[in-house]
Amino acid sequence: MYLLRLDDASLHMNLVNWQRMETLLDQYSIKPVFGIIPHNQDEMLTAYEEVPDFWKMMRSWTDKGWIPALHGYNHVYETASGGINPVNSFSEFAGVPLERQCQKIHDGYAILRQNGICPAIFFAPGHTFDRNTLLALERESQINVILDTAANDVYYRDHFYFVPQQSGKVRKLPMKVVTFCYHPNAMTDADFDRLEAFLSANAGRFSVFSQGMLKERKKGVLDYLIHMLYFARRR
Ligand SMILES: [Zn+2]
Repeated sequence: MYLLRLDDASLHMNLVNWQRMETLLDQYSIKPVFGIIPHNQDEMLTAYEEVPDFWKMMRSWTDKGWIPALHGYNHVYETASGGINPVNSFSEFAGVPLERQCQKIHDGYAILRQNGICPAIFFAPGHTFDRNTLLALERESQINVILDTAANDVYYRDHFYFVPQQSGKVRKLPMKVVTFCYHPNAMTDADFDRLEAFLSANAGRFSVFSQGMLKERKKGVLDYLIHMLYFARRR
């Protein structure tokens, strides 16, 4: 089963690319999980123009079955830590004191809720978070899903469901649940072409994220193996 995850929706974004993505996904009836940055202060991302009626657009996406996620708070990396999913060695969350993480989650979650968006999913900027991030999410939100782990299938651990996310580009992968992660703001024509070619051949294998796919299953041997291979390759 394939899932699609789109990162970095925010008040400042590359609207032309996001609309191109929306048209493409509508064409193949694919509904992604999209991550919203509640209070974007990332210099790279705030370079994009402010989107008029941004929250209205976010609600229109959830109305058509796209699944919203909380994607950090301000998207500014403040540590050189990789945490428990060390895809990168920088983070908005990993290594940040618990109280400060609680504040970020509290404020970010409140901004989404105030604008009519109720996320059940979190994924951190740079993919990096730690146990305190999970504690903060538990204390400050109703979120119980992390869509960010190198694994074969969904597993349950520390009161959270972890959904695999293994690739930044579409390709055939043998895992039971595969999530492809895209950043529409920065996509090139070639990226769109490759995505479209893959969708036209494999659209039927894509699913919409649903609570029904969450299982209270422990992390298994295959999950550990894939985790090991994933991080060995990255090194
Ligand atoms: Zn991001």
